[in-house]
Amino acid sequence: MRISKLQLEQVNDRIKALVAADSFYGKKLEAAGITEVHSEEEFETLPFSEKKDLRDAYPLGLMTASEKDVVRIHSSSGTTGLPVIIPYTAKDVDDWAIQFKRCYEMAGVTRFDRIQVTPGYGLWTAGIGFQNGAEKLGAMVIPMGPGNTEKQLQMMIDMQSTVLCSTSSYALLLAEEIEKRGIRDKIHLKTGVIGSERWSDAMRKSIHEKLGIELYDIYGLTEVYGPGIGISCKGERGMHYWDDFIYLEIIDPVTLKPVEDGVEGEIVITTLVKEGAPLIRYRTHDLSRIIPDECHCGCRFPRIDTIKGRTDDMIKIKGVNVFPSQIEEILGSIPEASSEYQIRVSHLDGKDTMRIYVETTGHTDFAELSKKVAAKVKSKIGFTPLVKVVEIGLLPRSEKKSKRVFDERYD
Ligand code: ZN
Repeated sequence: MRISKLQLEQVNDRIKALVAADSFYGKKLEAAGITEVHSEEEFETLPFSEKKDLRDAYPLGLMTASEKDVVRIHSSSGTTGLPVIIPYTAKDVDDWAIQFKRCYEMAGVTRFDRIQVTPGYGLWTAGIGFQNGAEKLGAMVIPMGPGNTEKQLQMMIDMQSTVLCSTSSYALLLAEEIEKRGIRDKIHLKTGVIGSERWSDAMRKSIHEKLGIELYDIYGLTEVYGPGIGISCKGERGMHYWDDFIYLEIIDPVTLKPVEDGVEGEIVITTLVKEGAPLIRYRTHDLSRIIPDECHCGCRFPRIDTIKGRTDDMIKIKGVNVFPSQIEEILGSIPEASSEYQIRVSHLDGKDTMRIYVETTGHTDFAELSKKVAAKVKSKIGFTPLVKVVEIGLLPRSEKKSKRVFDERYD
């Protein structure tokens, strides 16, 4: 994906603002002796920004606009150490809503829809992002926030919600609950806008079948507005992203060099017009690729493939690099296995062992299924895991992101 002349101008504009604000990135540029870039080659000499840079800027070191123009902050949940604080100007908030509105439109949502928002509100960007975009569109928002499944279902029925916004885990939980209670004929949902975690095709199929709704994947991260910078379409695969707001590169996570379109690597994002906390070449650690051809849906915006995982999700075991998405793919090809799983890696008797917990979808020989999964992992990835089959519903479901991989080797 070549960077355009306009995008370069926008980058130079952001560079000026970052230097003037004396931010961490302004200092990086000074150290590198860069004041402007005039070509893609020059752009690619710009230093990367990392999560650590953002964390080190806590609390307000990222603030690049003047205080009088900042209207809000959001924060990413720091699993380790300090959170990242992202300041937004009124324009940033509006730009984000414009992008989110496009996402809804891509999913066929209109101002006549009733949108039930179940992601959380507060410091993080989820709930309020879904809400602002829906209001920009002119739809009716039912701002539930997370949890309280009883009330969620009651409101879903009484308000006749037509769109469900949630994580994939919570959509599955609600779908299973609706099926269990036999209330599907009281549900008016037709579309699901699903954000904030990677999910398997099997899980998508399960939610689609239980609820009979069309599902769309939304992409985004707190550091770059939040959810809504891209969404899947009715085309064959992948997600469109809004290249008038962000410039997206795919780099080789080892050499850190940009790769050709179509090749898998790490997503790196530059915000083109963000004021509160612009980011240049921010390493997301999400793995995907640019899909080079034009999309069948007719949308002109470029596309990335479904997020395959994160560079930091990679498990190295017995000299083999494994991504949880590979295990997901294998389970998805076995009809007797549900979409839920858990991976536990431990160090036993001097060697690394991977245990995979798998749920069955029905009456099946547990030992047989376990052998089948182990053989498939061996043939596709190259080592034999221990596979434990459990009954459906036994693995934990979550209202937020489900943790599925546990590396116990370094505990
Ligand atoms: Zn498309």
